[in-house]
Amino acid sequence: MERLRALLKRLDGRGYKAYKELAGSYRGPWFQLLIDHVQPDPFAAPSRVRLLMQRDPAQFPAEWLSPPWRRTALEDYLARALAAVIGQTDRRKTGTGNSGLIAVDAPGQEILPRTAVKVTEATIELRLSIGLPAAGRTILADAADRLLAESLPGIVRQAVGELDRQRLLRHLQLADQQQAIRQFLREHGYVCFVANGSILPRQSGVSNRPLAGERVVPFQSPPSLEVAVPLPHREEPLRGMAIPKGITLIVGGGYHGKSTLLQAIERGVYNHIAGDGREYVLTDASAVRIRAEEGRSIAGVDISPFIQNLPFGRTTERFSTEDASGSTSQAANIMEALELGCKLLLIDEDTSANNFMVRDAKMQKLVRKEKEPITPFVDRARQLYEEHDVSTILVLGGSGDYFAIADHVIMMDEYRAIDVTARAQAIAREHGERQREADSRFAYPAPRMPLPASFRSLHKGRARVEAKGRETILVGEERIDLSSVAQLVDESQSRAIAEMLWRIASAADGRKTLSQLLEQLFADIESKGLDSVSRYFGSHPGDLALPRPYEVAAALNRLRSLRVSS
Ligand code: ADP
Ligand code: MG
Repeated sequence: MERLRALLKRLDGRGYKAYKELAGSYRGPWFQLLIDHVQPDPFAAPSRVRLLMQRDPAQFPAEWLSPPWRRTALEDYLARALAAVIGQTDRRKTGTGNSGLIAVDAPGQEILPRTAVKVTEATIELRLSIGLPAAGRTILADAADRLLAESLPGIVRQAVGELDRQRLLRHLQLADQQQAIRQFLREHGYVCFVANGSILPRQSGVSNRPLAGERVVPFQSPPSLEVAVPLPHREEPLRGMAIPKGITLIVGGGYHGKSTLLQAIERGVYNHIAGDGREYVLTDASAVRIRAEEGRSIAGVDISPFIQNLPFGRTTERFSTEDASGSTSQAANIMEALELGCKLLLIDEDTSANNFMVRDAKMQKLVRKEKEPITPFVDRARQLYEEHDVSTILVLGGSGDYFAIADHVIMMDEYRAIDVTARAQAIAREHGERQREADSRFAYPAPRMPLPASFRSLHKGRARVEAKGRETILVGEERIDLSSVAQLVDESQSRAIAEMLWRIASAADGRKTLSQLLEQLFADIESKGLDSVSRYFGSHPGDLALPRPYEVAAALNRLRSLRVSS
């Protein structure tokens, strides 16, 4: 650190570019400071630094690092602690642009494997962004010295050195419990669990935090669906609603909490932090939220189980379009999810194409089956379950035609869940005017092989692939729109996907299937860590979070230049 001080003295008053000389490694009393990347000017993306320290087994015992979900929870906790201390620290702006900034890629409500903090057997590594201070474009060495030698280590000492061990332990124990619930679901044939007392509604459409106030109704399972899950670190088993495999409907009047329940279930593929309200809402990790998505592109997807005999003899076994309709996009979203092994479809009538969901008895009388390309989902859902073990949870307000195929019907009534299965099935028996339309078996989608030509724009010169916020990834001139991909929840996941697209682009040879490409990618990450997807050589990749294969595929499937053979 003395060397850093001397270096800074020399740089004082010089042009900003001279900061480049700082790149390197410096030893402090209890840490090592690594300056990986130096920003070229005060307005550019901030500089990247790491603080590395030895893991003191007395302070960070080995049982905090394994099993793997504990390590993820530990790293997550440290990133949160760091973000909290940074948030509390009074940081006056020390100059132009982002001068004086200190930031860490802070987690949201979900606990995801991320690259902001890395704990190994020997070390703890914290990855931060800083703004090297300047007046105009002139180096402010004193301010830089305070930032690097005082503020930065001070923040880390407070976050890591003085951490609240009790709270951290509860964080790790929650991870154990979430793991135990997932295990319980698998062993007992359930697709999701919603604990009694869970708070499902969110503050607003743009906030992921729990709704607070007297009007919030905590979730309570209907007695018929209630189970008790034995959990570690807790004497009483945890009670709540477990939805079995099969077809489950969530019905009820408008504004009674149907979509809110489905959204909590769709987010249950991830673990949430204590106090989120959904920390004990857990869902089969292969669940995919399906919706209509007009205008998306589709590349060679077999949508024939749902759509056949388009006008002018257009085939649908390898359906491609630049501009999908509501029903074709919804069909493609389902087939793409199945292609990767999805075992639970989550569908909300609010965001579905009407004609994809059902054709009622009256319409069947007027328009003959031969004239209708669409086999509605109501006639396929049962087959998907019976032939392929794919379950569905469906939110419905308007169509009772699904009663006939449902295993369970849950009614939301003023935010309370009621089991109305028997009544719904009785109604279905009384009013069975509708004809079933699916005759053949449900043909599972054939694997698709992405062709190298899909990625031509990447190989041209210095094409960029980068995330712009959560919802957009730029690939060369192209813009992938991920706004309809509901289970992509964190901007850092989108950044990781952008990096992964490079990997996939170089591995795609026209023979490997999409699922093989993803399996390979995720196996690599498993063995080498999420860092390994980053192309950011010479600097730390401190701002990535792990997406699921489904969301990586979702990005690829929405790449308009994607070409496949099958
Ligand atoms: P639906 O899909 O049945 O029309 P929503 O799930 O969209 O209803 O919920 C309607 C409104 O009620 C939303 O603003 C939501 O935040 C709120 N809400 C949902 N569940 C609860 C609950 N358990 N307690 C209080 N408010 C809730
Ligand atoms: Mg709704």
